[in-house]
Amino acid sequence: MTEREVLNVAEFHGDGISKELSDSIHKVASCLPLDVRFHPVDLSLERRRTDPKGSYKDAEDAIRAHGVAMKYPTVTETESPNKVLRERFDFSVIHRPVKSIPGVPTRHTGKVDLHIIRIAVGGTYEDAGRRIGTEAAVSVRVIERKPSWHANQFAFHQAKRIGSDVVSTSKYTIQKETDGFFEEIAEEVAALHPDIPHRSELFDALLAKMIMRPEDYSVVVCPNEYGDFLSDAACGMIGSIGLGASANYAFTEGGDISLAMFDPAGGTAPDIAGMNKCNPTAAIWAFAMLLTHCGFRGLGSMLDAAVRDTIASGQTTADLGGTLSTDEFTKAVCATMQTELTGAAS
Ligand code: ATP
Repeated sequence: MTEREVLNVAEFHGDGISKELSDSIHKVASCLPLDVRFHPVDLSLERRRTDPKGSYKDAEDAIRAHGVAMKYPTVTETESPNKVLRERFDFSVIHRPVKSIPGVPTRHTGKVDLHIIRIAVGGTYEDAGRRIGTEAAVSVRVIERKPSWHANQFAFHQAKRIGSDVVSTSKYTIQKETDGFFEEIAEEVAALHPDIPHRSELFDALLAKMIMRPEDYSVVVCPNEYGDFLSDAACGMIGSIGLGASANYAFTEGGDISLAMFDPAGGTAPDIAGMNKCNPTAAIWAFAMLLTHCGFRGLGSMLDAAVRDTIASGQTTADLGGTLSTDEFTKAVCATMQTELTGAAS
């Protein structure tokens, strides 16, 4: 028997359905032809309350040791753990794939297959603003070169991998200096990738066109808040806000990815925690993204497809109208994956 390759993954445990999602990921990992070694870190509210410094320090040590982490949902009490981790690890780019899910009802017949790449910092989100007297308020909007550059580079690399074009989007005709700067950087990066078609589109027009003809869009890159709006709008088109996964990236000075953290989009679902009811789809897709990032591209896309095929065959958890428990759905995904692995090997 040949030695299986080892993949070390830091694993940030949170609250609510976190444990069930993690159990599901461990089961999925055990059916892969890989030796996946998880390195757990407790980021539950209980631990953060009693040992906030220690909990984040452990998370930092683990992700720096292994380069990649899976993160499960965490409750926000005083601080948002996502914000703390983003600042601590310098995550500057978020990649959020949004793809139609066969079998999930939508109001929309168009096929969505988007990679939304957004600057994870700045825009209007760093400054909550201030009141000026009683009749006005202002906030500062920030666009910085480095994260804009990383987001655009990531977008072009993604486009190269999947053979698509890149659309950069913002309100550059109105926010001439800030969004104009972002588009200038997009042009600079585009010039380094002459083989990949690039166009800029105004964000409002893009929303309308994306809803009318989603097939025309694949890799879209934008500043922070636009990416936030676009991700939820696109999720609405595929019939689910809660089924997405996202990747957070930090970069070296040279522009290579230094750290990556993958997480399901949904919350801690306290109402169903511990009931073996939650849908682990987004967590499994996050894990598929992690596999792809770590160089196991074939396994990543196979796992992504295995989840889609399982849902398409009508095997789903209650939130999608099915009858399966978390465990049963996970088993069904593993069985589909097994079939796909056997097919690929023969
Ligand atoms: P949080 O404060 O962590 O965001 P929340 O209850 O406010 O928690 P969500 O966790 O997003 O928000 O839950 C919203 C609804 O969606 C709940 O009814 C929850 O049960 C459901 N839900 C969320 N995640 C899942 C999941 N993975 N599977 C099934 N249902 C889910």
